[in-house]
Amino acid sequence: MRFGIAGAGFSGAVVARELAEAGHSAVVFETRDHVAGNCHTERDPLTQVMIHRYGPHIFHTGNEQVWEYVNRFGTMVPYNHRVRTTVGGHVFLLPVNLLTINQLFGTALSPEQAKAFIAEQADTSITEPANFEEQALKFIGRRLYEAFFLGYTRKQWGLSPTEIPAAVLRRLPVRFSYEDSYFNHPHQAIPLDGYTAIVEGILDHPGIEVRLGTAYTEADRGGFDHSVWTGPLDAWFGHRFGRLGYRTLDFEEIRAEGDYLGCPVMNFGDVDVPYTRIAEHKHFAPWEEHEGTVCFREFSRLAGDDDIPYYPIRLANDKSLLTRYVQAARAEPRVTFLGRLGTYRYLDMDVTIGEALAAAAGILEAVREGVAVPALFVDA
Ligand code: UDP
Repeated sequence: MRFGIAGAGFSGAVVARELAEAGHSAVVFETRDHVAGNCHTERDPLTQVMIHRYGPHIFHTGNEQVWEYVNRFGTMVPYNHRVRTTVGGHVFLLPVNLLTINQLFGTALSPEQAKAFIAEQADTSITEPANFEEQALKFIGRRLYEAFFLGYTRKQWGLSPTEIPAAVLRRLPVRFSYEDSYFNHPHQAIPLDGYTAIVEGILDHPGIEVRLGTAYTEADRGGFDHSVWTGPLDAWFGHRFGRLGYRTLDFEEIRAEGDYLGCPVMNFGDVDVPYTRIAEHKHFAPWEEHEGTVCFREFSRLAGDDDIPYYPIRLANDKSLLTRYVQAARAEPRVTFLGRLGTYRYLDMDVTIGEALAAAAGILEAVREGVAVPALFVDA
């Protein structure tokens, strides 16, 4: 069979590879002039630092199949992500851990004492947290929430934390030890040669043709037996019910000599600092040495029609527009929706790859059995 695949990020590349390895042909359409989507990396011509062009991407996973998969296409160098945050003129460690707690409260609590102390602060009247704020108040109490989450989240999402789903906060651990690794997963790494080289490797198969700088238009669809759409879900339907909302990012470059931040990422929790964080990209490759340094301040704002979509805005209490698109997607023949944009979800890279592998397996099974391919393999 001949598949038309829209998007050369991890979703599109992994599906194309699986289908091609099973003997099918895939044409991957990519509107940008490079593969790897928002994971794209490239060397800065002045400093040779590997830049994560669309913001920092740290690979972390507990999924062995996904871990083996990425290791097939490049060398993954173990990397322990660490994040600091500046709030009210002081620097604290993230994720919230025992040092953060002891610094904020001016205490010297042991793990058990800190657990009891935070439990006292927690709002026990909240049983089922309905949004980000309730999730925070239930688990960490008002003081930690207001210091580290309220301002940052307002800037990042442009919304009150009461309108943001509780799941967004669940991305971040809270620890009652001095461990300050940002993620809990057993595998945490950065590709030696960047993400773009990995995605190029995935796409390097005789059954795959990649067309850069080329949109997958409605007219193209008829030329293929089946489409895989990893672009925005609403764009497939010509935005017929209205536009799904995204946050986009603006980056402001900082160049310096030596070390600018002293760590890979510094968050800024105060609401009157207009950016959310600064990332110093050479610290994502601590095995390299560079005299110069390049950092980016990140400013988050609502995406306009022509901006690059980054984060899907899923309001805690409003899924109505999304529900209409999901229903339309389920009824749409000869297409599979996949990935962060195709399913309108806040996805990490490992989940994206895992879902793309599962979707490809599902497509191949449906093809073998001669039945219709499901349009959505996961609930959007
Ligand atoms: N967050 C926060 N304060 C921080 C860091 C994160 O309130 O200092 C919240 C914020 O709402 C953010 C979410 O936690 O959107 C997830 O953070 P993560 O670092 O996973 O964001 P990403 O790197 O995906 O942008």
